Amino acid sequence: MSEEVKTTENKTEAAEKVAEARPAARSAEGSAERRPARKPSGAPRGRFQRRRKFCKFCADKSMHIDHKDPALLGQFITERYKILPSRVTGTCAKHQRGLTTAIKRARVLALLSFTPLHHD
Ligand SMILES: [Zn+2]
Repeated sequence: MSEEVKTTENKTEAAEKVAEARPAARSAEGSAERRPARKPSGAPRGRFQRRRKFCKFCADKSMHIDHKDPALLGQFITERYKILPSRVTGTCAKHQRGLTTAIKRARVLALLSFTPLHHD
């Protein structure tokens, strides 16, 4: 029993020495060596790992914003027929501009509703 106590004491002493020697080195290692294993965007935010938003129209060049395509425009409006902001959908500024124009044109042509109060 007494031997065990001694060994634990030795261990704590050793741990203290390590702690004394390392603190700067340890923090440097933590930032330099552990990051590459994670995603390049940095540390995970909170419990959930959010997917990076991207512009659909930039990602898929074959997709074109067309005011005569209510099915496509429907993806960018809320259930109350409001235009979704780009910070929600991830659409880039250029395509968001085209999108809002297209949605407004589609509304005028009655391809999209202005409000949910407008029944077919
Ligand atoms: Zn875009």
